[in-house]
Amino acid sequence: MAIILDGWPASEGIASGPVFHLEWGLPIVPHITISEDLVQQEIERFHEARLWATQRLQELKVRTAERLGLVEARIFDPQIMMLEDAEVVEGTVRYVRENRLSAERAFEWRMLELRDLWSRTSHPMVLDRLNDLEDLVVRVLHHLLGHHDPTDLAGIDEPVIVVAADLTPSLTVHLDPTSVAGIATDQGTRTSHWAILARSLEIPAVVGLGDITKRSKEGQSSIIDGRIGRVVLDPGPSELESFASRQHRLTSWESEINTIASLESVTKDGQYVELRANLDMPDEANQARKHGAEGVGLFRTEFLVVGRGTMPGEEEQYSAYKGVAEAFPSGAVFIRTFDLGGDKFPMFLHMPQEENPFLGWRAIRVLLDEPELFRTQLRALLRATAHGDVRMMLPLVNNVEEVIQVRGLLDEEAKRLADEGIPYNAGYKLGVMIETPAAALDAAELARYCDFFSIGTNDLVQYTLAVDRTSTRLAKLYNPFHPAVVRQLHQVARASHAAGIEVSVCGEMASDPLAAFLLLGLDITVLSMSWPSLPEIKKMVREVRIEDARHAAQKALAADTSRDVTECLVSGIGNSIDLTAFAGRWSLSGPR
Ligand code: PEP
Ligand code: MG
Repeated sequence: MAIILDGWPASEGIASGPVFHLEWGLPIVPHITISEDLVQQEIERFHEARLWATQRLQELKVRTAERLGLVEARIFDPQIMMLEDAEVVEGTVRYVRENRLSAERAFEWRMLELRDLWSRTSHPMVLDRLNDLEDLVVRVLHHLLGHHDPTDLAGIDEPVIVVAADLTPSLTVHLDPTSVAGIATDQGTRTSHWAILARSLEIPAVVGLGDITKRSKEGQSSIIDGRIGRVVLDPGPSELESFASRQHRLTSWESEINTIASLESVTKDGQYVELRANLDMPDEANQARKHGAEGVGLFRTEFLVVGRGTMPGEEEQYSAYKGVAEAFPSGAVFIRTFDLGGDKFPMFLHMPQEENPFLGWRAIRVLLDEPELFRTQLRALLRATAHGDVRMMLPLVNNVEEVIQVRGLLDEEAKRLADEGIPYNAGYKLGVMIETPAAALDAAELARYCDFFSIGTNDLVQYTLAVDRTSTRLAKLYNPFHPAVVRQLHQVARASHAAGIEVSVCGEMASDPLAAFLLLGLDITVLSMSWPSLPEIKKMVREVRIEDARHAAQKALAADTSRDVTECLVSGIGNSIDLTAFAGRWSLSGPR
């Protein structure tokens, strides 16, 4: 009998395969002491585990380099180095020899000791090592205990559905789409950063399933539908048949994509709508272009720092930014400065433990407190402006002072470049993401200091409604059609038009046809989204009239409830768009 589990759709696409439980955590290590004659054997077992882990990490590094590039592959270097570290190796061997501990117990003790030692310092170079240490300990201990490596999918001969309690951005970046057909998690939401990454990697994902880790069994057959947010365990003939027909529909849709990508993005009554792509990794630029992106509306730069043991240098950053600029020679490329904190932690910064990280040391706040990190990025960005229409965008800005401060830093770095004879575009453009109610309400003031606005609706919805974007329990309250959100979007659009600066949306709202229809109606005609959504949105644009969208938006602005807002939009968009496929995406946009 099939078991149907409903969660939240997080990354489009459907897939089937056996369940693979990914359990990422420290195992329980039994306290075992050994007799003298087994000492040498245990030491050899430890060295074998070290060798195994080194090889495994090298393989992961090569695979990551092939798939995502050399920069991303370096996240494994600190762990590889640690396996050679005398403090780690000699300390463990000593515990086996002197305390007669089993290899796993000795390694665990030594690593706990080092963790304790290193955590007493606040030196960032040392603290970096703690994060690597954690990753490494989990991997080596599981191996010594004869468990399966939690992240090792190499022995799997058919693509699996990874089932986990939750994921992190750095864990997701390790998943290989050729061996991971889909992801299903107990927790998480569509706007969790790892889910955004899964979309870029084109791995279908369903989140917020509650207890799928408990209800599923290793190897159990399953189907995952990342569009409606459903997982079927042990599917029967009828579920398999409907899976096959959905897959068939998707394949024919894929063949339509090429045609759509080459068509103009214009509404029936002649309004041009500029469609851009959000990139999480530089090598997504080609796919984005193929899917019809005319530029990059949001290039998230955190890939350069998340999971990395060292701060990325100016040259490395410059070449990543320049690469994307050159991939879009006639389009604008908006590069966002590091948005760290929240759920994205680099290893080399001492991020404080916070009760509410999304209300804490995040984004522009981190950058302004870490001048070395920020100035290096600004220099790399300025240099990239010499290679295309590169614009710099600041995350989570709350007030005018922050922009003034950044302009000061930019002036100084630009002057240094000029003195050194290094080229950059002196007419560089700086803008902000509108992601907090403070920024939305102060849009008219901010507009005087900015060259553009890009509305980050993922965060704007979270902060407006006081609903954590990563909370599964609250997912039904996370509603971008809330009247308070609609009114802020309207206000930001009006302020930017009055100031004569561009306004775009780069949050997930832009990739939902109904929400995008609302944005058009509010005269926001530049939309940026994960590239797989571009054809669908272009299709919507070509089938509607901007006048109808404006009319529906006017009605939505006067609505009292989210349901009224969606009703105004559904009746305004008419029958030209099939919204059933999107019904599960936002809680109130329709019945699941
Ligand atoms: C947003 O908040 O809408 C956004 C695009 O930024 P991120 O999802 O990276 O926080
Ligand atoms: Mg954001």
